[in-house]
Amino acid sequence: MKKTSLRFLQTHTNMASVIGELAPDLFGDGHVFKNDEMLYSLFVETVEQVPIAISITDKKAKILYVNQEFCNVTGYRTEDILGENESILSDKCTPREVYRDLWRTISSKKIWRGTLCNRHKSGERYLSDLTIAPMLNSSGMITHYIGMHRDITKPYESEKKVINQKLLIESVINSSPIAMVVLDDRDRVILDNHNYKALVSDLDKGEPATYFLQLLRDEMGDLWSQLRSKQQGFNNREFKIESKGSHKTRWFSCAGNWVIENEVNADAFFENTSKQYLILTLTDITRQRRQMEELHIQTLKTVMAEDERVRGIRETLLGAMHQIQMPMNQIRAAEQILRHKKDDQHAGLLQILQQIQQSGEEAVTTMQKCIPEILQTAVIPVNINQILHEVLLLSNQRICSNDIEVHWQPLSKLPAMLGSENRLRILFKQLIDNAIEAIRESHGAEQRIKIATDTDADLIYVSIEDSGTGIPVEKRAKVFEPFYTTRAMGGHQAGMGLVMAKEIVNQHHGFIEIDPDYNQGCRFKISFPLHRQLFKGVGND
Ligand code: FAD
Repeated sequence: MKKTSLRFLQTHTNMASVIGELAPDLFGDGHVFKNDEMLYSLFVETVEQVPIAISITDKKAKILYVNQEFCNVTGYRTEDILGENESILSDKCTPREVYRDLWRTISSKKIWRGTLCNRHKSGERYLSDLTIAPMLNSSGMITHYIGMHRDITKPYESEKKVINQKLLIESVINSSPIAMVVLDDRDRVILDNHNYKALVSDLDKGEPATYFLQLLRDEMGDLWSQLRSKQQGFNNREFKIESKGSHKTRWFSCAGNWVIENEVNADAFFENTSKQYLILTLTDITRQRRQMEELHIQTLKTVMAEDERVRGIRETLLGAMHQIQMPMNQIRAAEQILRHKKDDQHAGLLQILQQIQQSGEEAVTTMQKCIPEILQTAVIPVNINQILHEVLLLSNQRICSNDIEVHWQPLSKLPAMLGSENRLRILFKQLIDNAIEAIRESHGAEQRIKIATDTDADLIYVSIEDSGTGIPVEKRAKVFEPFYTTRAMGGHQAGMGLVMAKEIVNQHHGFIEIDPDYNQGCRFKISFPLHRQLFKGVGND
């Protein structure tokens, strides 16, 4: 028999006597140890050495045997603890109900498992993960209890720390004003915050993460997988979202960061596999966008007002030159008649007519010089939807004050075309202003402007229709001629608006017409080529 076992057998109310006492009950009279001292000593040795605190008690929890680990865990020496009740270990902070449950269970011959708060001999508390099994004799009566416990204070603390950290992280991300979501490599939501949850109902797009991931992948193309494989983040990816809520249009700025987590499950124990997660943040930048848009509209208003002023001067001067031209022609004709007569009697008159002609020409030349230049504007890829949207905002006040209903039907994903933003803005503003004017004049029951965009392989189409007075068929070709107006003269831009509109369309190699099939008002149909290599003339008028 080995040394340790001998120590117990010799010095204590020991394992040997306890096992000796229990053996017939536990294993029957022909028990395995009866005739095999070596196996018996091996068993004793094993129980003694096993790294779990084992105690054997009587029916009242009086301790009869403890192993070495029990002494290690509790701090009691064997000779101090034998004969004591297990309650010596109680910290007295374990709720009574726990003990009641413990005793109810073991008294009814069942195994009890649970956690108790124990006190070390030194007074230090520790958490005990305890299993108590009743030991029955051959008549099925409880004779002893065997208790097995481990000090789980450290794993419990670690687990609690992890939970606390998780709660802390959750409360930090929850208090963030930004919507945040963590997605696994199959785009499943692993963690999200309150602001993200709010988006689920606010946006009405199903799972917001799925929706934004699609937008990001579409926009970034191959870059998405490149960044993902290198675990490089992205930020400031802005998207405009049309939703059904009270805030119809919202803007979001998206940022993402990939993180790697080592697998913790048993499968990965030897393989060291890892998982990739994406932390996606969605910042609602609608307010900033609106402020920027308002600022932009204010700037546009100033630019457009200046442009209108210049156009006003140009049209006034061109109108005056046009007006002067008629009497000048008459004077030139009269002068030629007199010249043919070769009559000295009219020499004075001829001279006066020549002087009038000369001053007239000088006046026209002076006026010509006074015509202000329209500034050259840059030709860039232009989003026609954006231009129309801005023009609608610019005209918003007039639209609202005239109680006009606007049907704005932009084609989503309209391709960009090359053009001058400024000139196109002037074009559409002119057409929308004309539409508002025509609706005002019509006093009709329906006050409506409908603006739509469309495209095919070659062209971008814009249609601007109103429920106004309309333009009679015979006048439709003339409205594009200079100084022709269907309205009473007097306005400072009378008769030049559509001339300019056509000029701008021409500069963009486009086509403008009045829809002959529409007769509930007026519908302008404008088309622009999509693929043009050269773009000439914008701003050079
Ligand atoms: P107690 O007065 O001892 O008992 C509290 C409650 O338990 C009462 O409701 C009482 O009715 C019931 N009760 C007590 N003894 C019995 C009994 N013999 N039969 C039926 N009901 C009974 N406790 C610990 O705190 N830490 C341990 O590590 C621990 N290990 C144990 C190991 C074994 C094998 C056994 C059998 C018990 C163990 N206990 C342990 C329980 C311990 O014996 C006490 O019941 C407990 O510590 C409460 O002690 P107490 O003095 O506060 O109250």
